[in-house]
Amino acid sequence: MVISYLEFKMHADAVQSRIAAACLRAARSPAEVSLLAVTKTHPAAAAEYAARYGLRSVGENRVQEAVDKQPLCTAKIQWELIGHLQSNKAKLAAAHFDRVQSVDSAKLLTLLDRAAGEIGKTLGILLQINAGNDPAKFGADPADAPRLLETALACANLRIDGFMTIAPLGSTPEEIASLATRTFQNLRNIRDDLAAKSGAALHELSMGMSGDLEAAILAGSTMIRVGTALYGSRPPPVAI
Ligand SMILES: *Cc1c(COP(=O)(O)O)cnc(C)c1O
Repeated sequence: MVISYLEFKMHADAVQSRIAAACLRAARSPAEVSLLAVTKTHPAAAAEYAARYGLRSVGENRVQEAVDKQPLCTAKIQWELIGHLQSNKAKLAAAHFDRVQSVDSAKLLTLLDRAAGEIGKTLGILLQINAGNDPAKFGADPADAPRLLETALACANLRIDGFMTIAPLGSTPEEIASLATRTFQNLRNIRDDLAAKSGAALHELSMGMSGDLEAAILAGSTMIRVGTALYGSRPPPVAI
């Protein structure tokens, strides 16, 4: 990572302005929308920057990357897993994250519940729903969301905070905006419906990234996950 804290602060201030402007249009309070700093591929200093700026949490895509960075980050910050979780990493994830946003199967719920129980921890969970019906995305099928939630709410060591989604990638700005809006509205409707039916609050709607956070806030997002607009562009993934 090449940016300094002052550059980071300028970027973060700009993102806060975008949040405020979108909230104004949506007639919402900016206090309802939290900013998750996505530190994946960046060194531990990225998490230190987020903490120093006053953010509550950082998001990582890979379990091992977070495990490696955590000892290097002395600032107090919450760690959230936002990338796909493999079953064989569930135990490690339960130990090293405050919340896992990418839970999309009953099997993962069972494994995380057991792992959290073994270490006497209540683990925060968001259910990841493929609300844009994008074949390229992880996340449970919207039709399976009710059953997945039922399983989740029965897990004694998990706290189910709500839902997460990622919008499909369009190729033009217009297409990006319309796909994002459709996806985010869909997740909002799924949440409203399931909260009413289950009686659980399911407050958190984690949706929106650097390119589509305005559409997400208009649809009711309570947490935007922002990497590029805070830290600059990431190196392209290396094929292995
Ligand atoms: C990388 C990532 C983000 C951040 O994306 P930016 O476009 O860099 O803001 C958000 N959510 C998830 C799940 C990600 O993997």
